[in-house]
Amino acid sequence: MKVLLLGSGGREHALAWKINQSERLTKLYVAPGNAGTAEIAENVNIKVTDFEALATFVEYNAIDMLVVGPEDPLVEGIRDYFEADARFARLMIVGPGRAGAILEGSKDFAKEFMFRHHIPTADYLTVTKDNLEEGVAFLETQKPPYVLKADGLAAGKGVLILDDLEEAKRELELMLGGKFGKAGNQVVIEACLKGIELSVFALTDGKSYKILGSAKDYKRIGEGDTGLNTGGMGAVSPVPFANEEFNRKVEERVVRPTIEGLQKDGIDYKGFVFFGLMNVGGDPYVIEYNVRMGDPETEVVMPRLKTDVLSLFEAMAKGELEQAAFELDDRFCTTVMLVSQGYPGDYEKGKEITGVPDVKGSIVFHAGTKLAEGKVVTNGGRVIAVSSFGKTMREALAQSYKNVAKIHFDGMNFRRDIGFDL
Ligand code: AMP
Repeated sequence: MKVLLLGSGGREHALAWKINQSERLTKLYVAPGNAGTAEIAENVNIKVTDFEALATFVEYNAIDMLVVGPEDPLVEGIRDYFEADARFARLMIVGPGRAGAILEGSKDFAKEFMFRHHIPTADYLTVTKDNLEEGVAFLETQKPPYVLKADGLAAGKGVLILDDLEEAKRELELMLGGKFGKAGNQVVIEACLKGIELSVFALTDGKSYKILGSAKDYKRIGEGDTGLNTGGMGAVSPVPFANEEFNRKVEERVVRPTIEGLQKDGIDYKGFVFFGLMNVGGDPYVIEYNVRMGDPETEVVMPRLKTDVLSLFEAMAKGELEQAAFELDDRFCTTVMLVSQGYPGDYEKGKEITGVPDVKGSIVFHAGTKLAEGKVVTNGGRVIAVSSFGKTMREALAQSYKNVAKIHFDGMNFRRDIGFDL
């Protein structure tokens, strides 16, 4: 099978690493990829949203399967684009069409979907310029902190959580006034859920699903969950507090009704579903849907997948996921993200990364890296994820940290407390 994978982060290196283990693979391309994917695949310099250039590449190279890493091409309709073209009738695509991707592309749609299909989620009101007063009145009925979400994609920055009511009212107006551009034409005001966050990942063919496991990521830059939000500083899978009973509730109350809801709505969904959840006193509530894998969660979820991933993707593409073989490693997997000094603010690029060949017993996934004059150098805020297995979460973490100590680049920063709260 010839495969083209889209994206350039740690998520994509982890997917590429797993795809590369498949007996079914004859050739793997990654567009645009990073220095890590370059070691195991052929990087192709095409933007993930340049559908025309991707189509030319897919046709010319007789690609059998397109695996979409990030959300932008999905929300922009990459599946619809390829499906509308008879040249690609046999192309298998991992990722939903526009109709499914709207679960991530519009928070208002996701909330309306959850309410209609009785999937537990926080109370909400969607506000536009036309019902701003109603929005203000709704805010006044809520207890702090106040949760405001831009409806559309805002590069992970469109959610504000504010302690002060007056500030929340001001921000609501600013959001509707264009603070997040078009993404804020509608704003979802949500009741604040109190609990511990986690995510659950599934692969679905629109009828059946396989649950790929739970994970917890660490969003804040600082130890003890302080400081600014980042893309993610580390992750663990599975989540120790997600016991059998909790997982059963997630499947029965969230995963199954979501897949059935998509079916009832006539949405043909083939790809990953990322359930962002809050554990509220032992009951799962959905905070958000994403229509692709998480980063850095993929760096702990993919290593635990024992099944041949291309066989699983093929079964999904053919609508035969129910019968497909599926097995997860029952060990824990953890990852620690190494980031550039200054991230998530401004940071310098081009720092040489050394020590990776000395890593033993962990998997190094590249995120923001590139090759420059034969050297691997930093090329982003999040640089490298060090993933490890362990019979316990602590054992896995100890292994990740032991190997982190061998890697170096100027200004390297990381959190020393991943998993310590669990
Ligand atoms: P989202 O993009 O919807 O996942 O929101 C970003 C982050 O805001 C989440 O990961 C949560 O930490 C937080 N958040 C979002 N919605 C709520 C809510 N209703 N209650 C509490 N925290 C929330």
